[in-house]
Amino acid sequence: MRFFRAPLIAKMLFPSGIWKGKETDSIYLTFDDGPNPDVTPWVLDLLKQFDIKATFFLVGRNVQEYPELLDRIISEGHQIGNHTMNHECGTKTSLHSYISSVSKVDTHIKSDLFRPPYGKVTSNQFKKLIESGRKIVFWSWLSYDFDKNISPQKIIQKASEIKGGDILVFHDSKKAFPNLKNSLAEIIEQLIGRGFEFKTL
Ligand SMILES: [Zn+2]
Repeated sequence: MRFFRAPLIAKMLFPSGIWKGKETDSIYLTFDDGPNPDVTPWVLDLLKQFDIKATFFLVGRNVQEYPELLDRIISEGHQIGNHTMNHECGTKTSLHSYISSVSKVDTHIKSDLFRPPYGKVTSNQFKKLIESGRKIVFWSWLSYDFDKNISPQKIIQKASEIKGGDILVFHDSKKAFPNLKNSLAEIIEQLIGRGFEFKTL
């Protein structure tokens, strides 16, 4: 079962998380898990072509490895956020290790936005992150671009259900690239055609 829409139960667990963008005539594009040398430049080129800004939730170890891609994301006017140092799953990581992983990313990027990998975070981790002044960003529409059992056509078809204010999740990762490169441009065109603007968080 694929939940393109974030399930209500998750929203109820973390009501102070960010699940929707503020403006209902806008769409909030986000890309997780980069930067990646094979995928991020392609995404940046496409966004530039459409003159659109997006938010990138970066994995610290990837930033460490490809600092020039971080520079390009920032210099092209995109927003960045923290996605842990090693893409840790909150529910499988101790409170201490999780918080220390998130804090380590602060040495590489400056952002108060945080998105938990897999959307999984314990209530204690969530509380600690909020207390340290972070904004926890979830999403309202997940593309499933990483799923090898879904076709780009299916993703494009599901994208017709996107509504104003939605926070969309894509991935600038190798795994997601086959679906991403065959669906993202068409989805953006579709949304522009419906009169939406694109904003950062
Ligand atoms: Zn992720």
